[in-house]
Amino acid sequence: MSPAPYRGRFAPSPTGPLHAGSLLAALGSWLLARHAHGEWLLRIEDLDPPREMPGAARAQLELLEIMGFSSDLPVLWQHTRSAAYAAALDTLLARGLAFECHCSRADLAATGGIHRHCVARRRRPDPAVRLRVPGDCIVTFDDGLQGPQRQHVGHEVGDFVLRRADGLWAYQLAVVVDDAAQGITDVVRGADLLDSTPRQILLQRALDLPTPRYLHLPLLLDAHGQKLSKSDGADALMPATALPALRAAWRQLGQAPYPLDHAERPLQALQAAAEHFDPTLLPRSTGLYAAAHNSHAAGAP
Ligand code: GLU
Repeated sequence: MSPAPYRGRFAPSPTGPLHAGSLLAALGSWLLARHAHGEWLLRIEDLDPPREMPGAARAQLELLEIMGFSSDLPVLWQHTRSAAYAAALDTLLARGLAFECHCSRADLAATGGIHRHCVARRRRPDPAVRLRVPGDCIVTFDDGLQGPQRQHVGHEVGDFVLRRADGLWAYQLAVVVDDAAQGITDVVRGADLLDSTPRQILLQRALDLPTPRYLHLPLLLDAHGQKLSKSDGADALMPATALPALRAAWRQLGQAPYPLDHAERPLQALQAAAEHFDPTLLPRSTGLYAAAHNSHAAGAP
């Protein structure tokens, strides 16, 4: 029997320039795909114009290209995907698995923003749409790096938004529709999305879509233990610093530094990384301090 095909992806939101944390996810997902002789795709998650920075998507793609990360298929832009998200939403509504919700943030303040049933004091012209999550819903999955995971989605998350009251598509719906449409078998990304995964698995089940394998890499943390964030402009990567940034990301992935020592250009570094990558060395933590030369594991953030 031939081995299952492997298709990975990197899916940045264009909310700012790529930084060391984004590079860790890009490099980790690319190396795991190459190691499995699989494909690797790029997707621009441009779903939320108010949070986006003009020109950021193009700049991200240019920088990835300079580093040698090129998509094996044309880049998918989420702003072109509304019809697919609308079709998925219609399916969920028709199956009675999703519902229109008139609750405002203020209405849900008493339950910490968690929606368990509608408590709206008035109807709004632009209701959100939520997935119905039974109160006793628990989702478990096995993360490729972080091990067995369990979330009581009914208690911790509640009925979650699929289309926002402002008409924008929620990340959870779009990511599930697009991972399936692109045939992604392996989602490799930062550990900040570990707790989104059960919601994505619930949506896959509700839409009869396959569940990919998941592997969550450690998040890079600043000196205060906070996640580096694109929208803060944290340590923006630039072409001139691409090579040292790749070397730092390689070490942060637990790999022995020497194979990249002699690379003179990012492309050579990436080639050497593909040849020497050992997935068994990936750090099994959810957070790493980002200090470039002496990253070490932190406790769970
Ligand atoms: N677009 C998300 C981000 O930039 C990543 C989503 C994902 O990998 O599922 O953080």
